[in-house]
Amino acid sequence: ILIITFFIFWVIALVVSYFLSRINMLPIMKSWKQQTEFVNDAAHELRTPLTIIQGKLEYMLTKPNKTIIDEAEAISVSLDEVNRLNSLTNNLLVLARSDSATTQSNFELTTPDFFLKDPIEPFKDIINSQSKVFQINLLHKPVLNLDRDKIKQLLIILLDNATKYTPQNGTIKIYDQIEGSKYQFIISDTGVGVADNDKKKIFGRFYRVDKSRNTNSGGHGLGLAIAKQIVELHHGNIFVRDNLPHGSEFVVELPIKRNH
Ligand code: ADP
Repeated sequence: ILIITFFIFWVIALVVSYFLSRINMLPIMKSWKQQTEFVNDAAHELRTPLTIIQGKLEYMLTKPNKTIIDEAEAISVSLDEVNRLNSLTNNLLVLARSDSATTQSNFELTTPDFFLKDPIEPFKDIINSQSKVFQINLLHKPVLNLDRDKIKQLLIILLDNATKYTPQNGTIKIYDQIEGSKYQFIISDTGVGVADNDKKKIFGRFYRVDKSRNTNSGGHGLGLAIAKQIVELHHGNIFVRDNLPHGSEFVVELPIKRNH
């Protein structure tokens, strides 16, 4: 009996080790590593505003002889941090949902005049109020298959960045072109630009070119990661190139269903 039991275990061990050797563990390990990094980065980003709010609340509780101005300042700083936490958790949810494929997509056939107009409209006033020029030059009307809400979100991310990283008197332009079977819409700005070394990295999660600069402007480095995810969902492509003499151009490429 002992010999038979030993033999059975030996055969099982052989079969298991054969199957394990056939499975490529590398992608699984890579995805684990990415998940761990993501959780670490997220925790770090959440901790910063929480520490600031904690400090301000302790100050309000313990500091003697506070003036109304002290209190107003503490409340205003805390509120800014709460807003940052809010936008961070929203972005984290968007990424987590599409990682686990739990978001519903609503694809429909449409032309650019329908999906580009809505998100662009509010930016006209914002950009003009900051003494920047906004130019729109959309000429093409191919039929595309897309989720309007998601493309709207993508445009908001790109226009928001173009506005954030372009100084006063700069120009932000949105234009389109057809490249073979692809429709491209391009958001171009005359802002700070993106160095060659960062051109791929900025689409990664939590990547910011200059952390101190972006802390002031409230970013967490998740916008472009979400943008990339949205474009990939549409079987498209997104990349950044230089806008000479200065600034950058974010190019979104989407497959055309039919040309009008
Ligand atoms: P953030 O919330 O920090 O803006 P994003 O993921 O949207 O995060 O962008 C990642 C980084 O890419 C930014 O921190 C910034 O350094 C750079 N970036 C994004 N858009 C632009 C732009 N239009 N011009 C220059 N740099 C940009």
